[in-house]
Amino acid sequence: MTAPPPHVLVVEDEAPIRAFLRTTLHAHGYRCSEAANVREGLVQITADPPEVVLLDLGLPDGDGLDFARQIRQWSTVPIIVLSARGQERDKVAALDLGADDYLTKPFGVPELLARIRVSLRHAARQDDATACVHTWGKDAADGFAVDLGRRLVHRHQAGAAATEVRLTPTEFRLLTVMARHVGKVCSHTELLREVWGPAHEHDVAYLRVYVGQLRHKLEPEPSRPRWFLTEPGVGYRLTETDE
Ligand code: CA
Repeated sequence: MTAPPPHVLVVEDEAPIRAFLRTTLHAHGYRCSEAANVREGLVQITADPPEVVLLDLGLPDGDGLDFARQIRQWSTVPIIVLSARGQERDKVAALDLGADDYLTKPFGVPELLARIRVSLRHAARQDDATACVHTWGKDAADGFAVDLGRRLVHRHQAGAAATEVRLTPTEFRLLTVMARHVGKVCSHTELLREVWGPAHEHDVAYLRVYVGQLRHKLEPEPSRPRWFLTEPGVGYRLTETDE
């Protein structure tokens, strides 16, 4: 028996964007339901619960942020926010309210599908992430692996034996939080709160320093990061692993 196609709910008032998403999702094996405003979205999400929500922030009868806040009270369904360029504050607010990721309009099909895949994978393995070994750049000339359970980090380079990388406790904590959200954006506030605690959620300078240290220890070219990416005005994203 084959699994039913994953169900994506699109909450978006612009009909052409809905049509684009519907066509794209169908073509790639997803089931798609649609809502043009907050009210319809709330009806749809309870009548036919989706596996992922694509959520526009500017809706005619309310704010996508209110929608996210309301459904987060009772649902953990992944929410990917669709927002326009320049709405960094809205993106951050959405992430802090419990949205999982965002796409900046206009976005391409590969990016859309990649974000949906990441969200579905996360939802499926939310609890066992700490038991995993994660590997980055396995087939490349340079990469690293993290064993979160055993707290070990190894760097591997072509033609050489893997070497253990020593991280400070704070570096390791930051890496753990980012690895737990691998592939997804983490807001500054989220990272600061989880690594340094709520009292430091505005100390963005800490983050810059420690992300810089992780890049220095784990990236082949720290000044041109492949894995520890900056999301301008929003936060950081640790790119997907090879697993
Ligand atoms: Ca809109």
